[in-house]
Amino acid sequence: MKETPNSRSATPHRIVVLGAGYAGLAAAAFAAGRTKRRDDVQITLVNAGVRFTERLRLHMTATGQQLADLDLRELLADTGVELVCGWVTAVDADARTVRVDDRRTLSYDTLIYGLGSVADTTTVAGVEEHAYTLDSARDAQSFAAHLDRLETGTVVIGGSGLTGVEAATEIAEQYPGLAVVLVGRGVPGAHLSTGAQAYLHTVLDRLGVGIISGVEIVKVLPDAVALAGGDTVAADVVLWTSGVRVSPIAAAAGLTVDDHGRIVTDHALRSVSHPDVYAVGDAASIVQGYGPMHGTCQGGMPTGVHAAVSILRELKGKEPKPFRFGYIHIPLSLGRSDAVVQFTKPDDTPRRMYLTGRRAVWYKETVTSSPWPTFMRMTKYPRTTAFWPHGGRYTRRSDKEMASDATYSGR
Ligand SMILES: Cc1cc2nc3c(=O)[nH]c(=O)nc-3n(C[C@H](O)[C@H](O)[C@H](O)COP(=O)(O)OP(=O)(O)OC[C@H]3O[C@@H](n4cnc5c(N)ncnc54)[C@H](O)[C@@H]3O)c2cc1C
Repeated sequence: MKETPNSRSATPHRIVVLGAGYAGLAAAAFAAGRTKRRDDVQITLVNAGVRFTERLRLHMTATGQQLADLDLRELLADTGVELVCGWVTAVDADARTVRVDDRRTLSYDTLIYGLGSVADTTTVAGVEEHAYTLDSARDAQSFAAHLDRLETGTVVIGGSGLTGVEAATEIAEQYPGLAVVLVGRGVPGAHLSTGAQAYLHTVLDRLGVGIISGVEIVKVLPDAVALAGGDTVAADVVLWTSGVRVSPIAAAAGLTVDDHGRIVTDHALRSVSHPDVYAVGDAASIVQGYGPMHGTCQGGMPTGVHAAVSILRELKGKEPKPFRFGYIHIPLSLGRSDAVVQFTKPDDTPRRMYLTGRRAVWYKETVTSSPWPTFMRMTKYPRTTAFWPHGGRYTRRSDKEMASDATYSGR
């Protein structure tokens, strides 16, 4: 049974947050800021490392650029949040416990699950063995070390989505002696407006990035990628950015997950099978009026804040409010000196307006650098950070639709 402020007892309500990424850290920092003068709530944050990984900048790490050292211990000093550095190996959703490094057990009253996602390296043969990813700072650094050893040669980027485009342009700009080829099913930037897409292709052309689209990579070999139909593309190194995979921990715990292993949530971001578990960020399957959300930092941070707000509402005996979110932009870096920013409707379809060149570089950098100072503000002035675009009519859902949340399972 949950405590109310009037029934504060010697046993605080234990909130355990898994993952200090954009979503999990937002949840922990916001909840800490809102409860700093209370002793009836105890927050524990579990993360693989003690540093915050700026995933939005991993293509910079992958080209040997130094990023700021963002230390979670400094951010959380004096907040009361206990930071546990370790690898989550299991969740027991019935016993309400989390195993860390297979040796420590943490108990929770409410869990916030934000373990994020990684590139899918399992569906195409040879990716695990022969390709690099941008899943962590360490992965990006390994790739950077490989690039540094190449004087000439070809870098193949597997996957022509936004991560692939950002990586390809960054590599082409930093290593002009290397050939860079983007290989994937779709045309790069296909979901941007016509003008923004044309600008993107001008920049790709200027940087000499080759594009092979409309193809399926069926195997990654030590020195090439093999395409369906029998062709191969020679590669001295392959960077894999395609597909999304989440940790199997949620499914193994018996939580209801979708086809991708993401936790299926109700309108308030609670697991539909285990309402004492909130799911946030890339690890959550979240449906809005326009359809399922896809993983972004843009949407991930609001999910973390919403989960924290909802838990605090529940502790007061109130029902959490429905989560609503609408996209506003797709900011895309094209190396350090160019960018394109596509403004979008709440359902992520493009508006006519977009920015290019220096204004877009400034905009992209402002967006990318904002999370860490925002986390700091959350710990001190949380109420100033609980704002995000709610999506207007795009996200309004009837009571009937929300009641059928559980039927979204398996999407
Ligand atoms: C190169 C690149 C560029 C991107 N650019 C953009 C962009 O411009 N805009 C945008 O909106 N999105 C962008 N994204 C997507 C964005 O980074 C993700 O949507 C976002 O990071 C999701 O946040 P999250 O908190 O769910 O997960 P993450 O940020 O991935 O955080 C998950 C955290 O959990 C930890 N973790 C995972 N498993 C375990 C475990 N078992 N035990 C302990 N800790 C664990 C990880 O170490 C990590 O700290 C980009 C992604 C990449 C790779």
